[in-house]
Amino acid sequence: MKIAFVSSEVVPFAKTGGLADVAGALPKEIENLGNEVKVFMPKYYSIDENKYNLKYNNAIGEMFIRTGGHTKSVHVFNGKLPGSNVDIHFIDYPPFFHRHQIYTDDWDEDERFILFQKAVIEFLQRISWAPDVFHINDWQTALMPILVKDNYSWDKLFDKSAFLFTIHNIGYQGRFSQDTMFRAELNGAYYYPGGPLEHEGGVNFMKGAIHFSEILTTVSETYAKELLTAEYGSGMQDFLMMRKDDLYGIINGVDYDIWNPETDRSIPFQYSMSDLSNKIENKKHLLQQMNLDFDPNIPLIGIISRLAIQKGFDIVSHVINELVHLNAQWVVLGSGESKYEDMFRSMAYNFPYKVSFYQGYNNDLSHLIEAGADMFLMPSRYEPCGLNQIYSIKYGTVPIVRKTGGLADTVQDWNEYNTYGMDIGNGYSFNDYSGYALLHAVQRAINDFHNKPVWHKIQMNGMQKVYSWKYSAEKYAELYARAIAKKKGN
Ligand code: ADP
Repeated sequence: MKIAFVSSEVVPFAKTGGLADVAGALPKEIENLGNEVKVFMPKYYSIDENKYNLKYNNAIGEMFIRTGGHTKSVHVFNGKLPGSNVDIHFIDYPPFFHRHQIYTDDWDEDERFILFQKAVIEFLQRISWAPDVFHINDWQTALMPILVKDNYSWDKLFDKSAFLFTIHNIGYQGRFSQDTMFRAELNGAYYYPGGPLEHEGGVNFMKGAIHFSEILTTVSETYAKELLTAEYGSGMQDFLMMRKDDLYGIINGVDYDIWNPETDRSIPFQYSMSDLSNKIENKKHLLQQMNLDFDPNIPLIGIISRLAIQKGFDIVSHVINELVHLNAQWVVLGSGESKYEDMFRSMAYNFPYKVSFYQGYNNDLSHLIEAGADMFLMPSRYEPCGLNQIYSIKYGTVPIVRKTGGLADTVQDWNEYNTYGMDIGNGYSFNDYSGYALLHAVQRAINDFHNKPVWHKIQMNGMQKVYSWKYSAEKYAELYARAIAKKKGN
């Protein structure tokens, strides 16, 4: 199969979250299964051409693409996904993509990604490459089905192309005013109250993809079920309900070339299941780096996160005083909403021997925290898949999570599952979205930490588990075939 994989972020070129991890890893595995994949992303300012050996695409040269009633001069750069032969094409239009960050609140945010999507389509036209499936991801690519089926329907090239739309996070839908119809030059017939592109009086990119894609997926089975409810569906639940037979949950894999304590070059001491002594060396190193003292009897709890309400920091704030008085140390890496940055900054200031906060994004430190912490806290309000808990499991860092979305699918509570003598308890989880439920789970973990055989067993139950991309890629490949069959009308 020929697959066009379109994403607004791809590791290692640009990343704000899990989407980039997926886009950097899944296409390689899809190609390993014997398919041909081309990846597309915008060429952001932060992407270093020389470092990644990107080459200007001379054969294509200048593409004139219309958005918002104006023609724009767009170029393409070619590269490869590192460690593979997968082509990646970068859409270059500096006025749109050379901004201070990947996503903005600028007035033309819609147009930035309309241009991106049109450029992908027009590039494919120029190289006469018809994908069997467009695998599109999140709102930044969600207009592609309607663009192909309507604006570009004159081109028979894409007549057989099917669409698979993956929802990585329903919290971001691409909601804009009606003007977006004009900027994208979309057919007004799709915009009427309750129509495929209209939602709550504006244009909704995601709704368009939900309506027009052959297959819909999201990144865990539990989240696929949750999306059909008012609590988690963020207003899309009714439209998803109508498509529920075409909605699947596939858990993200992990790129174990990057996230493996046996080979991880971002940590000073590599280790494996058979010998965890170097994990303690990493803990010492991490504590030193974060200005905390080492005590083998005090567990270290790590947090690496966007500091957004999605991630559960409101319930953390409700019990922050109780948490900080537990017999534990904390290292927190993240940035986001200022009230949560302030909360952790003030905790680090008031309890300097217990709490250390690094505000910002730091890839090396994130590896060191995964390796050096004893526990990892992820109390998300909702979590489509979540990656850090899966990394934690692999690093013998016991996750404490809220039982939602991908967290529910990957973390099995030690107390709950051990009761039946099963060998799968690999962490701690709680149901209620409340500070006290969170506190109780952390207390349970701290109690068990002092029981060394139990703790070691929980670590081992996790470390032996493999979330390979190969497995998930096979599932995606099955769904590509299904999308193609649906498109054909079988
Ligand atoms: P989301 O995509 O919702 O942010 P995920 O758990 O799916 O959450 O993915 C987050 C990814 O971003 C992980 O790879 C995590 O390690 C990384 N990450 C998040 N915040 C930071 C940070 N401040 N510094 C380094 N890496 C971070």
